Amino acid sequence: MAVFICPRCAHRVAGAERAEGHQPRGCPSCGFGFVFELMDDYYAGPLTALVCCDRDRRVLVAGHATTTLTGWAEGDLIGREVAEALGLSFPGSPDDPIARAIEWGVRVLAEPCAFRPLGLDADREAVADIFPAYDDDGGLLIALTPATKG
Ligand SMILES: [Zn+2]
Repeated sequence: MAVFICPRCAHRVAGAERAEGHQPRGCPSCGFGFVFELMDDYYAGPLTALVCCDRDRRVLVAGHATTTLTGWAEGDLIGREVAEALGLSFPGSPDDPIARAIEWGVRVLAEPCAFRPLGLDADREAVADIFPAYDDDGGLLIALTPATKG
């Protein structure tokens, strides 16, 4: 059963609700204009930044926790290539996990990464979960969770 997640508030909606006509117009919790379809359920933590991109990896929505985590205001991220905008890198990966998710249409889960918060001189370690969109627009959702120390 499909699950939808709101990129703005991280509210999750089960696919059954969509069949009943309550979806996919928008988020029933915060009223945001669209929800992102996931193949399987996913829980975004309170510090997990949710960023939606188009098929060219340009930021469409810098939603839930993004400003808290990265320091960037949404308006400064929209339209920019996501990895460049967030200083996102995947030092341990043999390929580009974002490209892998887009080209193969697969989820990439718990991929270690680093990003550069606004105003800092050092990268911060995080874990990325990357979800391809299943609609014709072919974008993706990136969930960035800060790595826990220790
Ligand atoms: Zn919402």
